[in-house]
Amino acid sequence: MATVGFIGLGQMGAAMAANLIKGGHDLNLYDINADAVAALAAKGGKACDRVAAVAEGADFVITMLPNGALVRSVLLGEEGVVAALKKDALVIDMSTIHPLETDGLIADLAAKGIEMMEAPVGRTSDHAIAGTLLILAGGTKAQIERAQPLFDLMGAETVDAGGPGKGIRVKIINNYMSIALNALSAEAIALAEKIGLDFDTAMAVMSGTPAGKGHFTTSWPNKVLKGDLSPAFMIDLAHKDLGIALDLANQVGVPMPMGAASRELYNMSRIAGRGRQDWTAVLEQLRDLSDMPTKAN
Ligand code: NAD
Repeated sequence: MATVGFIGLGQMGAAMAANLIKGGHDLNLYDINADAVAALAAKGGKACDRVAAVAEGADFVITMLPNGALVRSVLLGEEGVVAALKKDALVIDMSTIHPLETDGLIADLAAKGIEMMEAPVGRTSDHAIAGTLLILAGGTKAQIERAQPLFDLMGAETVDAGGPGKGIRVKIINNYMSIALNALSAEAIALAEKIGLDFDTAMAVMSGTPAGKGHFTTSWPNKVLKGDLSPAFMIDLAHKDLGIALDLANQVGVPMPMGAASRELYNMSRIAGRGRQDWTAVLEQLRDLSDMPTKAN
């Protein structure tokens, strides 16, 4: 069993630390909220009254904090953890922070002879309580292997994202898509309701199409991912249909900011000569605009 310093005992961190305590580890607990520390210490962890005390005897230090500036301050600030940490300890940041901040922290800790990896989590506080989080591990194989017994107590599944800094990158990409899709879904349903469709009918149709299933497993595999842009559904027609929906929304008074922005991507694709290509060619158009090599013909 290991000694684990845990910093940040909020909605997520308190439940994750509780699962490590349940799993038999010795926890050094710190949060600026003394009540949060006391509540967990009652379950068996050791309360620390200052952040550096978390380092005492620690094999691992886990941070689960709101942002990167706080992670940096508890680790590297005056009276931070790192100065007091033994050299063979492993720091694991499980917060969701900016990937470039993660890169900077890994490098700055390495300069002080301390190893750090990141392991942000997917899913929600209910999963944190149940110990069924999705752990997105960014680190060397050896670091992930070393942390795995802890991950197994906090999560149901660990994904090796492919190296240091990759865990936080896949977390941010995943959240970007789910958060934006949430807004797009709300737009579509608001329009559906305004034009007199009920939710169940709209959902029954969309759950069988790329609208509900997403594109990665439906429209993309045989087209843009294979380098085949011959049209199954062409950009010109997608642009026309999107335009009809936006006109209708304007007429009945439903704002469609996501749809309006995406129409411009179809517009740009047409201007670039892709009007008769498959609608999945919008990926190629974005690669072009992002100064990346295109992959399809
Ligand atoms: P939270 O606000 O509930 O908890 C943050 C905790 O950090 C609080 O207890 C706060 O007192 C403590 N804290 C703040 N500054 C501190 C400092 N300087 N020293 C010590 N403790 C300090 O947030 P949360 O929901 O637990 O989220 C934590 C991280 O997990 C965030 O990065 C969040 O984006 C990420 N996350 C959250 C969820 C979710 O569903 N809530 C899911 C996945 C990832």
